[in-house]
Parts: sequence; C-alpha cells; structure tokens
Amino acid sequence: MTQNMNRRGFLKFSGSAAAIAGAGIAVPHIARAAGGKVVVVGGGVGGATTARYLKLHDSAIDVTLIEPNATYHTCFLSNEVLSGERTMDQIAVTFDGLRGLGVNVVKDTVTGIDPASKMVTTTGSGSFSYDHCVVAPGISLKLDGFTGVSDAMFDTITHAWKAGPQTALLRRQLEAMPDGGTFCLVAPPNPFRCPPGPYERVSQIAMYFKHHKPKSKIVIIDRKDKFSKQGLFMQAWKDLYGYGTDNSLIRWVKAAEAGEIAAIDPSTMTVATDFENVKADVINYIPPQRAGEIALTAGLANDSGWCEINKLTFESVAHPGIYVLGDAAVATKMPKSGYAANSQGKVCAAAIAAALAGQEPGTPSYVNTCYSIAGRDYGFSVAAVYRYDAENNAIAGVKGAGGLTPVDASAEVRRREVEFAYSWYNNIVRDTWG
Ligand SMILES: Cc1cc2nc3c(=O)[nH]c(=O)nc-3n(C[C@H](O)[C@H](O)[C@H](O)COP(=O)(O)OP(=O)(O)OC[C@H]3O[C@@H](n4cnc5c(N)ncnc54)[C@H](O)[C@@H]3O)c2cc1C
Repeated sequence: MTQNMNRRGFLKFSGSAAAIAGAGIAVPHIARAAGGKVVVVGGGVGGATTARYLKLHDSAIDVTLIEPNATYHTCFLSNEVLSGERTMDQIAVTFDGLRGLGVNVVKDTVTGIDPASKMVTTTGSGSFSYDHCVVAPGISLKLDGFTGVSDAMFDTITHAWKAGPQTALLRRQLEAMPDGGTFCLVAPPNPFRCPPGPYERVSQIAMYFKHHKPKSKIVIIDRKDKFSKQGLFMQAWKDLYGYGTDNSLIRWVKAAEAGEIAAIDPSTMTVATDFENVKADVINYIPPQRAGEIALTAGLANDSGWCEINKLTFESVAHPGIYVLGDAAVATKMPKSGYAANSQGKVCAAAIAAALAGQEPGTPSYVNTCYSIAGRDYGFSVAAVYRYDAENNAIAGVKGAGGLTPVDASAEVRRREVEFAYSWYNNIVRDTWG
C-alpha cells in the first residue's frame, strides 16, 4: 500500500480479494518446515484467520482450533438481518474450509489456560498441550448495575451484539412491533466492539420502518456525546429519515442530555434516565464490554478488562507464549472490528510461524476498513493503514493512506460503497474461514 494512493483507489483496493489476502505481513521465508503445536481459542474472525494463515505459512504446523459453535454467524452485515435485507443463513459460516486445510477443529469451550504447563483445558474434550496458544474470544458483556438488568433480561431485551440467536430474536421483535411503535436502542460507552455498529443498526431499522411501519419511531439513548462517523450518519439520517425535522424517524439523545440511566425495566419496557422515561415496544440494550471471559479467567486482562499485548506479535504482556488478538486485545489505534481482527490474525500467524522456524518476526503493517450501510444504495466507509512503531510498541496510522467518505459524496459514490461493502464481506469471509 503506498501512501500516495488516493481514497477512491484505496477503497477499491481495500475491498478486493488482493488487499484482504495481502494485508498484514509478507509471508516470511521459512527455510525449513517448522512444525510445532498451536492451539487457537475461538473460531471467530481473529482465531480463524490465525489458524488458516498458520497452515498457509507451513502446513506442518499442528493447529487445533477450539470453538463451541458448529456454525459462526458474522456480526458484520447482521444489521441487515434486522432490516430484513438478509437472512441468518446469509451470515452463517462453517469451519469446513479450515478442516480442509488440515486444522483440527474441536467443538468445545475452553475453561482454562495454564501458561506454566502450556496446557489448555476444555469442558468435554480434555486437555491440549501447546508450544504457542492464541486467544481470540471476542468480547463479554459487562452488565450495568441498573435496576432490572440481568442475564435473564436478554430473553426479552436483546443485546444482539454477538450475532446468532439474539439477532434472530431482535428481528422477530421488530417484525411483531405494531406500526406506530417505538424502538429504543441504548448505545454503549467506549471502548466497544464495532464503533459505528449501533448507528448502522439504527439506520437499517429506520429503513425497515420507513418502508413497512412508517408511523414508528426510534430513540437512541447514548452513553457518549459523540460517535464514529457521526457526520456521515447524521447526513444519511437527514437524507433518508427526516433527521433534524419535526417528523424525524430517529431521535438521538447524547449522554449529556440523557444523563445517567437508572433502570431498564423489561416488565414495563421502559428505559429510565435522569431526565425522561422512554417507553418502547422493543428495547435493544448494548451493554459496556470487556474481553471474552476466558481471557479474564486466564489472567490475560488488565484492570479495565482488556488484554495488553506486544504489538509486533500480539504476544500477551502478562503471559509470554500466549497471544491475544481481535476485540479482546488493546490494539489502539486499530478499532475493534472484524477487518482489524483479520489483519491482526495474519500478523500473529506470521510471528508464530517465524518463531517456530527460529526466525525473528518481520515488521508488520495492518489495515482496516469499516463500511456502513445506512439505507438502500447508501453506504460510506472509514479506512486506515497502520505501521508498527517499535519505539513506542504502538500501532501507528500511516498519514495520507485511507480516509473517510466525504459527507457531500455523490449518489453514485454512495451506491458504489454498498457494492464495495458486499464485495468486502464475501472476500473477508473467504479469507478468514477458507
Ligand atoms: C452489529 C455489528 C456489526 C459489525 N459490523 C462490522 C463490519 O461491518 N466490519 C467489521 O470489520 N467489523 C464489524 N463488526 C465487528 C466484528 O464482528 C468484530 O470486531 C469481530 O467479530 C472480532 O473478532 P474476534 O475474533 O475478536 O471475536 P469474535 O468474532 O466474536 O470471535 C470470538 C469467538 O471466540 C469463541 N469463544 C469465546 N469464548 C470461548 C472459549 N472459552 N472457548 C472457545 N471459544 C470461545 C466465540 O464462540 C466466538 O466464535 C460488527 C459487530 C457488530 C456487533
């Protein structure tokens, strides 16, 4: 990726198979087959990419991937399931591609990781020894202490922040909602998985309401005063959903205006804040987040619940020999996104393959593009390229590479961004799970 590539060229490139396959790091020149045993915890984007690229680097590496689900549902494009534009089947992937490459895929949950004995334990499949262990468990939800909030609540009030049954349930609730009803989304505080995700969700649901339940309204109770791609989302809401007029489909209440949330009550379907009680037919509460539970159990997380890593290799600062990547890791300035997890998986796989071959890791670059689809033929994106900054153990943005769709982009550009988003989806799924 050159620094001089303009935004249009970058976007075309970044959604392409070539970019996705090439992102991360050049394949190291491994002089001899290294072998070695790697256990990967989690078959989501970060874990699956690492497993796949380890095998692509050196088929002699013994790779075991442990994941409880037989089918993984991508969060990306799951907002389109909520608007009825896509089915659950269209966001489902299996692990057959990884099996075909020789990855030993074990359907189970990891219960412990012992860095001293280099052993991973599972619920039902016994223990697995490793030379290197990769942990990519995504996020866990940090339930607030508001009145009414509990795990049981999610049967009625969804989070839908891990795609799967929760996505399907929220879609059913939206379908059952009467025309003229209210949908309330409680958006999480930073940091969280997919910063533009809640606002894309609102846009997709607004599109569904506009066409199928035009008397309905959406209220966002935010725990922040600003959000990712805010200018672009607000422009889209103005263009498509009457935002800024008395008849707006969407009302966004920022933290400074909402105040603190006191209660979320499933029995009365109310979100109570310092300043108002929002009564809704469907509530979507996206809680604060931290690294997936197993990262906490294994002592990989810091006090704020995220995992510090060496950004050259993604090796844990707390436990050498264990690597953490994807949403669970502190990989600023990269956002917690699927594309970021994919890019990190390649860097991590290259570092482990090099270590097993007795070589030093190369100097990585990383890439991320996040597309948002705010309505039919209405897309935009943010894109960035990063380099490893050895002096500060940091992931630093490359100036002049990437950028943001202009707020005043033409209708044709908006339409093409949707095409790029769909093309990106197909490529990332193929690149991650094979
Ligand atoms: C609504 C929404 C829209 C999004 N849209 C986009 C987008 O357009 N573009 C984009 O780039 N990103 C998007 N994202 C973000 C993206 O989905 C995540 O950043 C990405 O999935 C992170 O990958 P990961 O590997 O860290 O976690 P995950 O993909 O969540 O994978 C974690 C895996 O670990 C497994 N696991 C957890 N604990 C254990 C255990 N103890 N043992 C074994 N396995 C375990 C889980 O079952 C899971 O399969 C979106 C997210 C949401 C919620």
